Amino acid sequence: MTIATTSESITNLQADAIIVGLSGSELQGSAAELNQATSGGLQSLLDSGQAKTKVAATTFWLQPSGINTKVVILVGLGENPTAGDCFKAGGAAAKAIANKQISSAAFYFPELDCPQLESAVAGSIVGCTGQDLHKKTKSLYAPEQILWATSNTEAVANGDKIGTGVNLTRELVNQPPNYIYPESFADQAAQLAELNNVTVEIWDQARLEAENCGSLLGVAQGSDKEPRLMIIRYTGSSAENPHLAIVGKGVTYDSGGLSLKPSDGQKTMKCDMAGAATVVGTIKAIAEMELSCHVVGLVGLVENMVSGNSYRLGDVLTSRNGKTIEVLNTDAEGRLVLADVLDVTLGLKPQHVVDLATLTGACCVALGLDIVGLFTNDQTWCDQIVNSAAEVGEEVWQLPMTAHFSDQLKSKIADLRNIGAGRWGGAITAAKFLEEFVGDASWTHMDIAGPAFADSEKSYIDGGASGVMVRTLVNIARGM
Ligand SMILES: [Zn+2]
Repeated sequence: MTIATTSESITNLQADAIIVGLSGSELQGSAAELNQATSGGLQSLLDSGQAKTKVAATTFWLQPSGINTKVVILVGLGENPTAGDCFKAGGAAAKAIANKQISSAAFYFPELDCPQLESAVAGSIVGCTGQDLHKKTKSLYAPEQILWATSNTEAVANGDKIGTGVNLTRELVNQPPNYIYPESFADQAAQLAELNNVTVEIWDQARLEAENCGSLLGVAQGSDKEPRLMIIRYTGSSAENPHLAIVGKGVTYDSGGLSLKPSDGQKTMKCDMAGAATVVGTIKAIAEMELSCHVVGLVGLVENMVSGNSYRLGDVLTSRNGKTIEVLNTDAEGRLVLADVLDVTLGLKPQHVVDLATLTGACCVALGLDIVGLFTNDQTWCDQIVNSAAEVGEEVWQLPMTAHFSDQLKSKIADLRNIGAGRWGGAITAAKFLEEFVGDASWTHMDIAGPAFADSEKSYIDGGASGVMVRTLVNIARGM
């Protein structure tokens, strides 16, 4: 798929499909031109209620007279579209035309500002790309070429790079766990080093042992697949210390270990590396956009399996920073992996740290499946993330970090235990556990367990991995 701009008018352009964005009650620009060319056809579709302007509502209009294109898809942008609305509208239209292979689709949207246009373009790239990686007959076919009718080539190029980053994250998550395991994930992510200003460092089993990453290694020891830790550095600025460290949980498959998950719970556990995949997709986008910041991404890659060598309930692990951890549930493994990765992160002295993890089912219980939970030790930093997410239309919500939740993490035999003492507040006790490993760094934790992976499709995106938070993180890096 290639993305380009066009200055051709809607009535002259030759394309397999034309997509027209509708916003507000008055037809303007290309929509008004189309209405005129079709002798008021568009207005009557709207008047009769056949076409809707609600965000991401699509209407097919076959063989309208007066233009060169056989198929027009009308897509709603709502009254005053936000960047998030534009992402959904771009995605819904692209998904609507992706049921068969076409060579070209052209988007005619009303006049949009840069963030709106970027989001719409990113949406169009994400919407036509599916999770059908191993199907002979695909569910979605991306058009060979997508054209955007605008003179703002920079916003289109950036939207392309952001959408491509989201899709990279989605593909890594959607690939099955026999394809993506720590070593193969690291191999794929290492390709980022081909980009300007990107270097990649990979720690193997021996290095992890030498670095005393006992918490991460404890989780990994039940699997035949060796663990990895990656440090991906993007130096778009000469600042010595990173402005931002993005840390991702990369449990490439989570059986639960000896605290085995039931079959239903295991089915989608390839998605337990979504945090790590988000790091990779984000750094790709940041590097392609050549942002002037210094960002480092760290991912901890393990497979949580059952074998004669699995870590046990009751084991005590010694983490890299020296704290000992009593394991009381082997399915609370993500925090054990992150404990060591966060400690490695502190050594790089970043100004701000954000970690992403499909960490707890409790976060889904609290916030549902579409909202990312935020937890912080630095309110200013968290507010910056909240604002950045709002700008691109991704949903986040902060949960409390009151000190008393730490009481639940006390162990009789070690410094910490790896699960809270009771049923309640599990997303918070998990965050409190991570907080033990961030020292006095400015840190925010994102629990993406709900939004990272969906069982069913939405109008603007296929089911499976969502690539959530890539757009927010790119937006944050931009301001640094
Ligand atoms: Zn788990």
